[in-house]
Amino acid sequence: MATKAPRRRLHCYWCKRDLMPPEARTRVAKTRDHVVPRCKGGRKTVPCCRQCNQLKGDWQPEYWREVMRIFPRWWKQFDHRGQLLMALKVRLAAHQREVAERGRWPRSVVIQRSPMRGLNYRIAA
Ligand SMILES: [Zn+2]
Repeated sequence: MATKAPRRRLHCYWCKRDLMPPEARTRVAKTRDHVVPRCKGGRKTVPCCRQCNQLKGDWQPEYWREVMRIFPRWWKQFDHRGQLLMALKVRLAAHQREVAERGRWPRSVVIQRSPMRGLNYRIAA
């Protein structure tokens, strides 16, 4: 019996979002990401959405997994100009230094947006 091969689904290795939704948009556009950053000697690549690829940048996979644990569905907070993405990246980079120094992650991180102060975040230790 000849059956039509089901369309192969492809998901982001990191956030698991569908990389080929019917209404494909650029944010979940398919890219390939080095699991361990290329600049740190990584060779293996995986399918990955554009957003994860951009925000993860040259971070190690363990760090990125922690970021996603603390910010579940973080892409919901991505604004259309990409400003939040960059703000988040700057803050997380600062936070990464703190993690390196103190050796532990906060329990939660709350991102807030206020018209006066723009974006800021609060860490519950
Ligand atoms: Zn992703």
